[in-house]
Amino acid sequence: HARRIEGVDKNIWVEFTQLAADYQVVNLGQGFPDFSPPSYIQEAFCKAVNGGCSMHQYTRAFGHPPLVTILAKFFSKVVGHDIDAFEDILVTVGAYQALFCTFQALVNEGDEVIIIEPFFDCYQPMVKMAGGKAVYVPLRPVRGKALTSADWVLSSEELASKFNSRTKAIVINTPNNPLGKVYKREELQLIADLCIKHDVVCISDEVYEWLTYDGAKHVKIASLPGMWERTVTIGSGGKTFSATGWKVGWAIGAGHILKHLKTVHQNSVYHCATAAQEAVAVGFQREYEHFGTPESYFLQLPERLQHKREKLAACLESVGLQPVLPEGGYFMIADISSVKVDLNDPSTQGEPYDYRFVKWLIKEKGLATIPVSAFYSPEHSKDFENYIRFCFVKEDSTLSSAEAILRNWS
Ligand code: PMP
Ligand code: GLN
Repeated sequence: HARRIEGVDKNIWVEFTQLAADYQVVNLGQGFPDFSPPSYIQEAFCKAVNGGCSMHQYTRAFGHPPLVTILAKFFSKVVGHDIDAFEDILVTVGAYQALFCTFQALVNEGDEVIIIEPFFDCYQPMVKMAGGKAVYVPLRPVRGKALTSADWVLSSEELASKFNSRTKAIVINTPNNPLGKVYKREELQLIADLCIKHDVVCISDEVYEWLTYDGAKHVKIASLPGMWERTVTIGSGGKTFSATGWKVGWAIGAGHILKHLKTVHQNSVYHCATAAQEAVAVGFQREYEHFGTPESYFLQLPERLQHKREKLAACLESVGLQPVLPEGGYFMIADISSVKVDLNDPSTQGEPYDYRFVKWLIKEKGLATIPVSAFYSPEHSKDFENYIRFCFVKEDSTLSSAEAILRNWS
């Protein structure tokens, strides 16, 4: 085997999705909705599939023209910059492939890439497979009052100390998975200033951009002065329209950067499914027409989720698990250190405490969640073995079943 895949063979989603299937659990693990996408987008998909030959054939390599056209129109308004549909956008197989193309296109052997912890796990193996070196900087809970994701903050000195002449890029994720932190403008400005000072690219994973609560506002780092030229913004049609299986994602950024991502894409995947791109294009067209009105799915989904977030948080609190209330996204982490359980399963001996706890919860209680230390580097994971992640983009009946399990805990 090639050296680039050494040490990246384990995958949290592969492992825990299989366990959840084996034990037929109530599943608050992997992040996907257990309800259908809005009907107009399902109809758009059916129409595409039934609409004759062309939707079943290849389309433009870098994105189906109707999709890149509406993405450009839509996001030009959001970013406040004129986005060129054919130069500044690459449509990919999910946000995953947008991330992969970005690292492959920009990172050289020995380059350093700064990753803020906790982080969506794939950044690390992707940096490694590109030959780069991941450098970590943690968000830390403000001592004594880590009640919400806003209480997890970066130290500006610590962050600044990670930038040097080898730094090629920094990856940020807002709203963050698994914490739910929504970075404030001032926090993004600090990162932007360092990127500009050290001539570093910012890779901004914004797949949960529409999901914010309690008035938290999602800010695009690409919209800050001097950042459009050096930011690759990544999005996901799957997360946007509750259709994670469609695997339509995108990277948006200045043409002089995006052209390198296109080189990776044209020589590997070439393009993603035409009909799925067509349906996502219809979805964005509709959103463009209804943006800011109650008809907009981008408003309806967070409204629906706000109540689910409250329901889950209240339940966790009542059983003695301390939730960290997320400002965005569809995950909630909870502190398990006050729960005493007898983890005597010999098959999990030697694994991190949260892994053992989650496996116990799956096998003995029939509830799936995800261990949070999976979102940390090997250097820091030991300090974060007391949290597990719950996904709340679920039917109320699913959340109630989880609640029943938690309440009958002992
Ligand atoms: N980034 C983050 C933060 C995620 O949580 C996910 C998982 N959906 C992805 C990227 C990958 O998204 P996609 O399913 O569109 O590939
Ligand atoms: N992004 C999703 C999560 O965090 C799922 C990722 C995956 O299944 N690979 O749960």
